[in-house]
Parts: sequence; structure tokens; C-alpha cells
Amino acid sequence: MVCLSKITFKRNSVHNKVMINKHREKKEFSKRLKEKAINEGFTISGIALIPGSSRLKLRTNALERWLSNNYHGEMKWMEADRRKNISSLLEGAKSVLSVGFTYISSQNKEEKTLKVGKFSQGDDYHKVIYKKLKNIGKWINLEIPDCKWKICVDTSPLLEKAWAEESGLGWIGKNSNLINKKHGSWFTLGFMILTEELVPDKPQQSLCGKCERCIVECPTKAIVQPFVIQSDLCIAYHTIESRKKTIPKKIEKNLNGWVAGCDICQDVCPWNKSAPVNNTFENTPKEWIKNLNVDSLSWDDKTWKENLKGTTLKRIKPWMWRRNIKANLKNQKINI
Ligand code: SF4
Ligand code: SF4
Repeated sequence: MVCLSKITFKRNSVHNKVMINKHREKKEFSKRLKEKAINEGFTISGIALIPGSSRLKLRTNALERWLSNNYHGEMKWMEADRRKNISSLLEGAKSVLSVGFTYISSQNKEEKTLKVGKFSQGDDYHKVIYKKLKNIGKWINLEIPDCKWKICVDTSPLLEKAWAEESGLGWIGKNSNLINKKHGSWFTLGFMILTEELVPDKPQQSLCGKCERCIVECPTKAIVQPFVIQSDLCIAYHTIESRKKTIPKKIEKNLNGWVAGCDICQDVCPWNKSAPVNNTFENTPKEWIKNLNVDSLSWDDKTWKENLKGTTLKRIKPWMWRRNIKANLKNQKINI
């Protein structure tokens, strides 16, 4: 007579073995995927599962509050509802690969004359990150042909920093940047949404502690409370995003040379003090940026367009550059 309990036991044990092997394969592939990202030139990589933990819900609520306070100013695209729902970006989405690309170079322009944010001195990071992620996608096609994937770099409505935090890349600092313990915050983020279920990384805890340097050092007091930037008080917003004809007086008198972006709240962050640079060709600052001075006021639109080609700075139209430089000229504290 056949013993039913023995058969059930055997079936369970076979089932458990299959499950264990599947988990091992998933773990192995997740590890290789993150290694592939590093080999492609990313500084950090991590994985999160969709829909994410309760932390994502908190971040989504924080975004709602920020929007309802109108702290996003003219950046109406931030209101897109799809920004809050990652699943709507790819049918059957199960995991997210998050990557960070270090953009600081030892050649970054640091002079105290006309200043340009470090993130934009080299090649357009959207293209740099997209190309690297596409190479990863091609590799996935060979490894797991059934897996579908979608690349998101700034242009897709996704809560970027929250997903990077969820993937274990770092924590969102009080200056609202994503900070990594080893690499600081000098990196831009990219994402790949996948239909394959992977093994997630653990989210990092915040290490800002009692530090408030970014809040104290912001010249326009734009960090109105920890993690909350009021855009219409922020130099980066006024020099890059705002399409207003003039820069408000209270911002203008604090420009201190900034014509495109502002790095102050990152420069003062202790986690950036010993962050390694990434001297790749993509990060090499453009010559015209290194030499940017008040003479650029005489450039015509064509010259500006030529110079801006291939950089993220093309977002700032020639008339906005002139507006920003002229606003700095009114500031007697600097030598331009
Ligand atoms: S970018 Fe500059 S102005 Fe904006 S919050 Fe940071 S320090 Fe303040
Ligand atoms: S300066 Fe201090 S508070 Fe601000 S992000 Fe860095 S560690 Fe956090």
C-alpha cells in the first residue's frame, strides 16, 4: 500500500527545491545585473521591487504636499499623476534597477566669476545614462529574452530619488539630493523598469543626523524645512527653469556669480568632502564653460546654440543666459 503522507512529503520537498533554485537564480541574476551596470560606467547600482515599501507612500505624500504648496513654481510637469505610479510606465513591471552616474571631474570650473552647476559642465547626462542603460538592456535581451524593460532618465514621470532610495543607493538628504555614504551626492540618476522579479536591496537609513549645514548655508533660505525646497527662492530654479523676464531682487543680490544652477547646498555637505571624481571623457567640462565670462553677453543666438549643443544647458535659452549674466553684473560683490 502506498503511503500518502510520503508522497506529499516528496512532492513538497521537490517543490521546495525548485523554489530554492529559482531564488538562487534570481539572486545570481540580480547580482550580475548590478555588476553589469558598474562595468558600463555607473558608480552605484541597486534594485527595488514594485510597488515598493511604505517609504514610497511617504515620499509620494511629501510630493503631494510640495505640489499643493506650489513650491514647484513654473515646473507644471511635476504635477503629472503618472509620476506617482511606476506600474503605469510598463505593463507587468515587477522590478526597478536604479543607477547613479558620478558627474564631478577634477577639471570642473570652480572660479569665483561666472559659475555653472557641476552637473551640467560635461556632456548631456540624459544621453550618457541612456546609452549605458541601453547596453544593459541589450545584455538582458540575451540573458532573459522574455524580460521586457523600459529606460527612464529624467523624462519619464517617476519619483526618481524615492526609487533610488528604495533601491539602496543612498538616502534623501535635507537638501533634497540623494546622498551615498561613499560617493556623496555628485551623481545623476537613471532607471530601468523590468518585468522580471529580482532580489531587492535594502533601503539605506538617513545619515544627515543633526547636521543642518545645507539649510544654514543656502544664501536665499530656499530650504524652508528639512527636505523641502521652495523653488521660487532657489537660485538653480531661477537660472535654469524660470521663464520670467527678470530675476527677483532678493535672488539677484545672492547670485554671487551663479548663471546656471547652484551647487552651494551640495558643496557644504560633509558627505561630499571626500567624494571621488569621475574623470571620463563625458564629464570633461566644455572649454567655453571653463572660460565663461561677461564677454559672452555679446554672443548672438547662433553662437549660444552652437556652444549649448550636446549639453543639458540648452534648456537655458540664449535670452535667459543674458538675463542671468546681467543680473550678476548688478551684483558688485563679484569680479566678472
Ligand atoms: S541650489 Fe542653491 S539656492 Fe537652491 S537650495 Fe541649494 S543652496 Fe539654496
Ligand atoms: S549638509 Fe548635512 S543636513 Fe544637509 S544634506 Fe548634507 S548631511 Fe544632510
